[in-house]
Amino acid sequence: MSLDTVSYKIPVARSAADLRAAVAEWRKEGLSVALVPTMGALHDGHVSLVDLARKKTDRVVVSIFVNPTQFAPNEDFSAYPRTEATDAARLEGKADLIFAPDAADMYPEGFSTTVSLTGVTEPLEGTFRPTHFAGVATVVAKLILRALPDIAIFGEKDWQQLMVIRRMVTDLDIPVEILGGPIMREADGLAMSSRNVYLTPDERKAAGQLNVILRETADAVTKGAPISEATAEGGKRILALGFSKLDYLEIRDASSLAPFPDDRPTGDARILVAAKIGKTRLIDNMPV
Ligand code: AMP
Repeated sequence: MSLDTVSYKIPVARSAADLRAAVAEWRKEGLSVALVPTMGALHDGHVSLVDLARKKTDRVVVSIFVNPTQFAPNEDFSAYPRTEATDAARLEGKADLIFAPDAADMYPEGFSTTVSLTGVTEPLEGTFRPTHFAGVATVVAKLILRALPDIAIFGEKDWQQLMVIRRMVTDLDIPVEILGGPIMREADGLAMSSRNVYLTPDERKAAGQLNVILRETADAVTKGAPISEATAEGGKRILALGFSKLDYLEIRDASSLAPFPDDRPTGDARILVAAKIGKTRLIDNMPV
């Protein structure tokens, strides 16, 4: 095994073989293992998932991989923040291993397989980022099959992604438990995101109101307003804040993400939003 310990205090595996060797050692000792997949630029939201992993298992692997296949050509793949050394420092004493492969290791020449789901991938993000979830499902399947953890942990921040991964793991009989961790927020309620660094001070201020409008829209529906009326009003308020484009503001069935046919929630419901401010696209969600 050749773990890269040159620059960081925490060991880094760069290949599937190195990752598997480290996990095999732990397995020999009878230890349980969690995987926390990330794209790096770690913030307290990511760290909360690592802390949750620590509580659940003996050893924690954090993967850091900015996955090219989940970005569309017009999206921010090349601009996406890459801060590996800082990330490694943040994970000291929290994670046992970083798995940071490069794209050629994950997708060697001849790579031809895509994991693609119907249904839960189609609405919301699927409408605006039609190739996104196939990229996510494929990379997450690979990361789980490389690490073979007992549990894999994902943030509720990307609620639809969490539902997609649960569906995939069920459908493909992948023997791993999927856990969701709650959304970590800034003091004003803005959901933490690696993309928040793109916001100008004015945009940052307006972005802090997004979660307030989500909460108030959800509360209006809880008090009896029809979903279509409440979300139309909420959408207008988001645009009035200075957001340039509202991709969606919807209240859906929390697991299937299907709309409620009677314009009122009849089971577990979730409000989900995606909107652009300046160059930055923000997403958020919460229970209704
Ligand atoms: P990313 O690096 O953006 O791919 O995110 C890696 C993981 O962290 C995903 O499972 C995200 O849902 C999760 N995550 C991102 N932001 C937050 C947050 N504010 N609170 C909790 N989890 C988060």
